[in-house]
Amino acid sequence: MQVPYLSFDAQNALIREQVLAAMAAVFDSKWYILGNYLRSFEEAYAAFSNTKYCVGVGNGFDALQIALKALVIGPGDEVIVPSHTFIATWLAVSAVGANIVPVEPDERTYNITAETIRKVITSRTKAIIPVHLYGQACDMAAIMSLAAEFNLQVIEDNAQAQGATFKGRPTGSFGNLNATSFYPVKNLGALGDAGALTTDSPELAEKARFLQNYGSSQKYHHEVLGVNSRLDELQAAILSQKLPWLNKWNEERQAIAGRYQAHLSNLPDLVLPVVAPGATHVYHIFMIRTPRRDALQKYLAGKGIGTAIHYPIPPHRQKAYAYLGFAPEDFPIANLISATGLSLPLWPGLTQEKTDYICTEIINFFNQL
Ligand SMILES: *Cc1c(COP(=O)(O)O)cnc(C)c1O
Repeated sequence: MQVPYLSFDAQNALIREQVLAAMAAVFDSKWYILGNYLRSFEEAYAAFSNTKYCVGVGNGFDALQIALKALVIGPGDEVIVPSHTFIATWLAVSAVGANIVPVEPDERTYNITAETIRKVITSRTKAIIPVHLYGQACDMAAIMSLAAEFNLQVIEDNAQAQGATFKGRPTGSFGNLNATSFYPVKNLGALGDAGALTTDSPELAEKARFLQNYGSSQKYHHEVLGVNSRLDELQAAILSQKLPWLNKWNEERQAIAGRYQAHLSNLPDLVLPVVAPGATHVYHIFMIRTPRRDALQKYLAGKGIGTAIHYPIPPHRQKAYAYLGFAPEDFPIANLISATGLSLPLWPGLTQEKTDYICTEIINFFNQL
């Protein structure tokens, strides 16, 4: 049996007609940038996120960078980020010239926590970027109260967790100005690049809107040094068609994760994802850990099962960050996850038969010695 790590087949088949109709409607509207389709998606995504405002931007990296700029974070400021995340979180901080202060994630949830963040706060700390990694919400109650105690800004990196909640409240609704990505493989994916910011603050929403459109609220009048980072009408129309499916697709992801948990829970050498109290997990990624990761990945490949590694090299060991002077052995939890983590196939449409096949082969692998 062949099981790819990722497949759009089932998802695309479900929505093919409605998405193609939306694309045709944009084509015929003859208005392709900053129009009604964007406005309507922004309203729908703000409602989904339980925030007052949503500002569409070009991608998730820009969303993070624009959030930092809107919060006036730059050279000399320290921003706390996870030691284990997709590198975009770090690169956005570098892009505004602020200093990266990594903290280790919890070894079970893979998310950063208020306890570890507290230890690295200095007089120069300006902001925290919690990442809801792999689709699980961070403990935002604790992080927000820590931020209030030290007067810090919070930017949620919600690229992987659209639809997750902490104590019933959606990710992307806690921080001052929050970033998400609609990169095609995210839980809510466009058919190209797209991203957004969510916030309850009218001032920050307006600032973000200036910044993403050349620092301009009125054509040819430029109040601040902005950039061009826009969510175009075509992607907005497509996202509007997909958004109503997101909760259903997340439930399907959770059901597949539940099946993995049930079948794989008794293997001695295997660590499964843990969902923290108060949090929900929407399983953007289902990552298991074993010291025999490389052998397992090879074994599964031989059985036609695709897997992935998120992420093979932590940011502090990337060549691009050599100038920060971290030692490879710094951040042992990030190193441990990189060395032992393996992401299993998990996508809407992955059948029970295929999930069971993957589980059987993983059990076979561990039983073969
Ligand atoms: C995908 C991702 C981003 C960046 O999103 P892009 O749209 O690809 O720029 C940022 N942070 C995290 C955690 C991501 O997974």
